Amino acid sequence: MINVEKLNKSFGDLHVLKDINMVVKQSEVVCLIGASGSGKSTLLRCLNFLEIKDSGIVTIGGEKIEKETHDLNEVRARVGMVFQHFNLFPHKTVLENVMEAPIYVKKRQKEEVMKEAKALLKKVGLSDKENVYPSKLSGGQKQRVAIARALAMKPEIMLFDEPTSALDPELVGEVLSTMKELAEEGMTMVVVTHEMGFAKEVANWAVYLHGGKIVEVGHPKDLFTNPKEERTKNFLDSVL
Ligand code: ATP
Ligand code: MG
Repeated sequence: MINVEKLNKSFGDLHVLKDINMVVKQSEVVCLIGASGSGKSTLLRCLNFLEIKDSGIVTIGGEKIEKETHDLNEVRARVGMVFQHFNLFPHKTVLENVMEAPIYVKKRQKEEVMKEAKALLKKVGLSDKENVYPSKLSGGQKQRVAIARALAMKPEIMLFDEPTSALDPELVGEVLSTMKELAEEGMTMVVVTHEMGFAKEVANWAVYLHGGKIVEVGHPKDLFTNPKEERTKNFLDSVL
């Protein structure tokens, strides 16, 4: 589903991603872990072309994506992203937030989009909040709206960048269970998270990134309990 070969990305002199190779198959869930500044967000952003790679190959659904040959807005619609800080439109209701992109980006018909948006809000457990503004929601509710909003574009892949790290601890569970459901339905997902319990339960692979390089890859249960690399071990000691 996603194939990354020798991906490199620099910001000026700062070489952030160094020869990243990664394969994510259909319906797989991959967790990315690594210290602050190791390049996790940049890697996600290169996968949906919010950042443009300097070199390397990114293949999505069998199609090699290049900024010269592809409409990047279309690519971003195929690869949904959920951020740490929700980024909801504050002046739009919950339902309007979910309907926005299909109507304005995909130019789809309003009635149909509304029907789907309501179904998505039901799925994330927020049917009763359709007409509420984001400021009236808890962090966990906002994040579930953000997930529904991303799903409204019918993405092939979902990227999550620390979706629970801005939440109060008691709100983390509801967002993780929404993500778990999505995984169980077969969504292909790449998740930056330090929620090791979630990773062990849901992820097929965990990838440890250090200094812009993939240092170790393994099943989360093996990688977290029995890391082979010293750097992975040190990192895990610092977060567990
Ligand atoms: P965190 O855990 O803190 O979110 P991260 O692993 O997601 O960290 P990135 O955000 O990918 O790390 O950043 C990797 C490096 O690239 C950092 O040194 C960061 O300062 C730098 N960086 C990221 N985005 C930009 C940018 N737009 N311009 C310049 N430097 C950037
Ligand atoms: Mg980050």
